[in-house]
Amino acid sequence: MSETNTAQTTTTDDLTPFADAAKALVDRCMAEPANDKDIAIVERQLGRYPRGMVAVGARCVCGRPLAVITRPVLPGGIPFPTTCYLTSPEAVKAASHVEADGGMREYNELLAADESVRAAYHDAHLRYLAFRHELALRLGDSEEHIADTSAGGMPVRVKCLHALLAQTLVMGPRANPIGDLTLKRIADEFSPTVCRCTTED
Ligand SMILES: [Zn+2]
Repeated sequence: MSETNTAQTTTTDDLTPFADAAKALVDRCMAEPANDKDIAIVERQLGRYPRGMVAVGARCVCGRPLAVITRPVLPGGIPFPTTCYLTSPEAVKAASHVEADGGMREYNELLAADESVRAAYHDAHLRYLAFRHELALRLGDSEEHIADTSAGGMPVRVKCLHALLAQTLVMGPRANPIGDLTLKRIADEFSPTVCRCTTED
């Protein structure tokens, strides 16, 4: 298996199987764009203003944002590949614990050993690109610099569990196998269905 994730160029045909779901998700984001209250909470979560935030992609049961959708090109023309961005400090901390605990090495070994996980992970990559492609079309953003770049090390490596967890929270179960495993593993510390939020409203 390849050690790099830049070996191949993704074509529109590769994204076709994921286009309908991508359109539906962009529709959902556009139907409820980021409002001032959401932006203010995310700013407190991150400790900085969330530039290019389009919408909240996933919420805690309490309503606070867990992950946000960020546009492909930030104000100022900066390409931004991490379209699904984890903002919940509790989720960030929990994913960091898994990383510190050797989780990334385990998941890389799993990818190397299990063909079905490897295939599902590659699909997760295409799902991510299809979503961003649709978002870029709607917003009129260029994908020039990020067309083949998804997030978290996809399609062949695991490099950032935060990015993969964000995809799982935004797109739901079975969108990303490593995101699913991460979410399951941190259930005692973080779950979208159990509010442990500490950020002020
Ligand atoms: Zn909450």
